[in-house]
Amino acid sequence: IVSLSKLNKHYGELHVLKDIDLTVVPGEVVVIIGASGSGKSTLIRCVNGLEEFQQGELEVDGNTLLPNGKATRALQKIRTEVGMVFQQFNLFPHLSVLDNVTLAPMRVRGWSQDDATATARRLLARVGISDQADKYPSQLSGGQQQRVALARALAMEPRLMLFDEPTSALDPEMIGEVLDAMRELAREGMTMMIVTHEMGFAREVADRVIFIDKGRIAEEGPPEQIFDAPQHPSTQSFLSRVL
Ligand code: ATP
Ligand code: MG
Repeated sequence: IVSLSKLNKHYGELHVLKDIDLTVVPGEVVVIIGASGSGKSTLIRCVNGLEEFQQGELEVDGNTLLPNGKATRALQKIRTEVGMVFQQFNLFPHLSVLDNVTLAPMRVRGWSQDDATATARRLLARVGISDQADKYPSQLSGGQQQRVALARALAMEPRLMLFDEPTSALDPEMIGEVLDAMRELAREGMTMMIVTHEMGFAREVADRVIFIDKGRIAEEGPPEQIFDAPQHPSTQSFLSRVL
């Protein structure tokens, strides 16, 4: 469903992503790890077209993006088919929880208010916050807000979900509830690309772990291999620092 080939991205002089080759198959859960500044967020943001790249090719669910932001129709399709959850929840502060979740399906997909509301209530229940539907984001805990963000992304019926450190802005006691919701989603077969520093979670949920070092995929494999028997020196030194 996702295919990157020889993808390169620069910010001016800075070569941030180097010859990234990566394929994600439907239902796969890919976890991306690596040091701060290694390019994890940039990679994730390229996949839903939030960042342009300079060389290579990127395909998401049959939509191809070319270097330097060409192919705008593909870009729009990708944005509607890919859900994203960020470190900062980015909820609309002036909208209720329910309205946060119904907005995009109504505006972008043209759903009726009734259909969007029914779906939103089902999703809020699924992430365990059905009783919060009428509150505003500022009235929720961080963990609850992040679950609203997840429900909001799911309301668009995405073919792929991207996560960029979804728990790193949360107090420790709230991390578990967000990871539980993500675990559930993985179990239901959602295709997911996840940047996280939660190594225990990564080991448990990932089909494949990708280690990025200075913009390059240094090593990838099943979690047991990456965590228990890393081959590349940079993977070994990264894991010895974080585990
Ligand atoms: P972290 O774990 O700290 O989130 P990361 O792996 O997500 O790090 P990126 O945010 O992808 O790293 O950044 C990769 C590199 O690109 C860094 O050197 C960063 O300073 C640089 N960079 C990121 N965004 C921009 C930008 N908009 N303009 C210029 N440089 C940028
Ligand atoms: Mg980042």
